[in-house]
Amino acid sequence: MTVGRPIRPISVDDDTLRRHLARADVPALLMTIAHLTGDTSLLRDDLRAPGWLFAPQGGLTEEQQTEARERALRVLARLRDESAGTLPAPPDAALLRTITSWAMGSDTEDLVPLLAEELTLPEHDPKAPAWRLDACLCIRDRHRLAQAGVPFVIYEKNPEVGGTWFENTYPGCRTDVASHLYNYSFAPRHDWPDHFCSHEVVLDYLRDFAKDSGVLDRIRFGTEVREMRWDEARLCWQLTLHGPDGERTVAHHAVISAVGQLNRPRLPDVPGIGDFAGAAFHSAAWDHTVDLTGKRVAVVGTGASAYQIIPEIAGTAAQVTVFQRNPPWLRPTPHYRDAVPASTQWLFEHVPYYSQWYRFWLFAPGLRGTLEGWIVDPDYPPTERAVSALNEQLRETLQRAMEAQLTDAPHLREHAIPSYPVGAKRVLRDDGRWFATLKRDDVRLVTDPVERVTAGGIVAGGEEIEADVVVWATGFEASRFLAPMKVTGRDGVDLHDRWNGVPQAYLGITVPHFPNLFCMYGPNTNLVGHGGSIVYFSECAATYILEAIRSLLASGGRALEVREEVHKEYNAWVDRGSALRAWGWTRVSGWYNEGGRPATNWPYTAGEYWRRTRTIEPAEYDTYGNRG
Ligand code: NAP
Repeated sequence: MTVGRPIRPISVDDDTLRRHLARADVPALLMTIAHLTGDTSLLRDDLRAPGWLFAPQGGLTEEQQTEARERALRVLARLRDESAGTLPAPPDAALLRTITSWAMGSDTEDLVPLLAEELTLPEHDPKAPAWRLDACLCIRDRHRLAQAGVPFVIYEKNPEVGGTWFENTYPGCRTDVASHLYNYSFAPRHDWPDHFCSHEVVLDYLRDFAKDSGVLDRIRFGTEVREMRWDEARLCWQLTLHGPDGERTVAHHAVISAVGQLNRPRLPDVPGIGDFAGAAFHSAAWDHTVDLTGKRVAVVGTGASAYQIIPEIAGTAAQVTVFQRNPPWLRPTPHYRDAVPASTQWLFEHVPYYSQWYRFWLFAPGLRGTLEGWIVDPDYPPTERAVSALNEQLRETLQRAMEAQLTDAPHLREHAIPSYPVGAKRVLRDDGRWFATLKRDDVRLVTDPVERVTAGGIVAGGEEIEADVVVWATGFEASRFLAPMKVTGRDGVDLHDRWNGVPQAYLGITVPHFPNLFCMYGPNTNLVGHGGSIVYFSECAATYILEAIRSLLASGGRALEVREEVHKEYNAWVDRGSALRAWGWTRVSGWYNEGGRPATNWPYTAGEYWRRTRTIEPAEYDTYGNRG
C-alpha cells in the first residue's frame, strides 16, 4: 500500500507516456497541467458543458480529450527532460481559486482554504493541530490527539480496528464512495486496486493506518463501554467498561464517542421472527458457516446492503427471493465494480499532483452541486414524485437509465421505479448487475409486505414462500445515537431521556448537560452524497474537537459545555434545512427519516460543515472548574 508515497520521476518514452495518458481522467488532467504550467488559458469555458461535473470525462468530446492528452504529453515530456526530478510547488491560493472556480463553474474564493487542505501533498498535513500539550514530539503519531500531545486511550468493543468494515463481511461488500475519496486527506492511498474497493481492501487500509500511525498501541480491544457517568465532584467522566478483565470503572477528563450511526443491526418487528427453523442472520452479522450452495435464500430489504449481497449469492443459491418494500433509486456508474487500470495507476504514481486533482474532481460535485437536487422548492409545488424542477429532472434521468434496462422485463418495470423523490433515500450505484440479477430465473422479486415468519419461510401477500436461509438486510438503529450505552451527564440528566427519541447535538458534536463529551458522526452529520464522505466529515469533527480541547486548556478550566441557547438555535437552523430537503419532506420513512425529526443527515453543503467546524467559538460554551 502506498499511503503517502512520494511521486516517482517519469522515465518512460513518449509512446508509453501517451499510452498511459489514454487512461487519464481528462478534467483532472487539464487541472493538473494548468497547475504544473501555470497556464490557465487551457481551462476554457467552452470545455465545461452543463452537468459536466457529473458526466464521465466531463462530457468532453473525443476531439477535446485528444487535444488535452496531447497537451499533457508535451508538458510531462518537458518535465521528464528538464526538471531533474524537482517537484513543482503546490498551487498558490490564486491559482487554486482560478482552477477550481473553472472546474466548479462558480467562484470558489470561500472554499480555497478547504481545498488547500484537500489538495495537499502526502508529506504535508495541514489539518494537524498547530499546538501541543507539551514539548515532546512524537513523529510516528499521526493521530490528532497524539499530534497535540494529549494523552488518550481508545476502547473498542471488537477485537480489531475497522468498525463497520470489520463487522460487515457479507458477500459483495464494498464502498459506494470512490476509493480515492474514501481515505484520510493526510494519509492518501494512490494504489487502490478498484475504483470502489471491497471491504477487505478498505479494512487493510485502516489496519495499516492504525499500525503506521502508532494508534494501534493505544487501543484496548474487546472492551465495551457500557456506561458513562459525569462525576461532578471530580469534573470527569466515569466509564464502566466490560472487557477481558471483566467489569471495571475508569476516569477520563473528556470522552470522544466514535461509535457510528450504522452499527446496531435492526431486525424488523415481524410476527414469528423467532420461529424460523433454518439459519437466519442480519446482513451485518453474516454467518459464514452457512453454505448457501443449493439453498433457497430469502433476503428481506433492498437497501445498500441487500443491493450488494443479492447479485453475489444468486447462482450459488438454488433460489433467491427478494422481499422489497420500496425500490432504491439507482445512478449509472458503469465502472462500479471495475479495477483501476494499470495506466491510471501509473499516472497516480508519476504525474505530479494528478492524484490530488483527481481527488478534487471526485470531491467537486459534492462541494455545492448535488445538494441542489434535493432542495425542496415550495413554489414548484413539491410532491412525492419530485420536490423541485431540478429534482424532477434527476428523476427523469435516473428513471430513463433504469427503464432502459427493463425493456425485456415488464413485470419488474412496474416495481422498479420508486414513488418517492430522488434523495429521500440513499441513491445506489448502478453498473447493470442489479436488474440483471432480478431478471434471473432463479431470483424472484416479491413486493407484497412481509406478514409473518413461519418455521419454513416467510408469508407475504397470503403466500408462504419457503426458505432454508433468511438474510435480514433490514438496516440499523441509525437514529438511536450512542445506544445501548447509558450516558448520565451533569445534574444526573440521562442522554436518552433528554433526547426522548429526538437526538440533537451542536454541530453533531456537543450536547448541553454533557460537559467534555464529544461525538463524531453524531446527529445530523451524515452526507447524502453531497460532498465527500464520512471520512471527510470525521476529519472536520476531529479538527473541532481538538480545537475545543485546546480552548479548554487555554482557559484554565476543567470542563466545557455548549450553551443551551446556542444548541437550540443551531438545531432550529438544521431543522429548517431538513424540512426543505427531499428526505425531510417525503412521507416515505427510512434511516434518513424515521418518521419524526430527521436526525441523521446534514442538510447543508460539505463546505458549510467545514466552515463551522474549523474553530471553536469560546463564547458558545460555558467553562467551569479550575485546573489550579
Ligand atoms: P437500509 O438502507 O436501512 O435498508 C434496509 C432495507 O430493509 C430497506 O430496503 C427497507 O425497506 C427494508 N426493510 C426494513 N424493514 C422491512 C420489513 N419489515 N419488510 C420489508 N423490508 C424491510 O439498510 P442497509 O441496506 O444496511 O444500508 C444502510 C446504510 O449503510 C446505507 O444507506 C449506506 O449508507 C450504508 N451502506 C453502505 C454500503 C456501501 O456501499 N458503502 C453498503 C451497505 C450499507 P424500506 O426502504 O421500505 O424502508
